[in-house]
Amino acid sequence: MLMSEQTAIDGFEFARMGKSLHGKMEVSRFERLADLLYSNSGQVDYAISGEMDEEGGHLLHIAIAGTLHLRCQRCLGDIEYALDLNASLMLFKDESDLVSIEEEDPDVDGIVVKDKLEILSMIEDEILLDLPFSPRHEACEGKVERESPFSVLKGRI
Ligand SMILES: [Zn+2]
Repeated sequence: MLMSEQTAIDGFEFARMGKSLHGKMEVSRFERLADLLYSNSGQVDYAISGEMDEEGGHLLHIAIAGTLHLRCQRCLGDIEYALDLNASLMLFKDESDLVSIEEEDPDVDGIVVKDKLEILSMIEDEILLDLPFSPRHEACEGKVERESPFSVLKGRI
């Protein structure tokens, strides 16, 4: 018999019932992440918990931790990136309610949920939001400055 794995949740019910779940996910399953990675080995741990806030809003708290191997944008080498993120999402049925919450509380992201939430893509979204825009080794970052005197010199010749 196959072990059943929960792949999607009803976000509103999840929040209303104060449910929680946690598990591990193979990094290789994140397809949208693939281009940014040096290697897709390893796993991330995740935990999702639901909650109602005082005003009756539906909240999901997401925690993700693990190590990713990002590709350095300069030398294309391996950067070990320690992922350790916490995010809160407020669920809405309507686009029109979305705008107000993001103005009120910058720590909470509003999302419109029409259907069940795929756990995989929800976690991948949060990881993508957390990653540096253009990851580089610290040493590779430094190279830019060290090159500048050279280019000044070059300009004189
Ligand atoms: Zn590098």
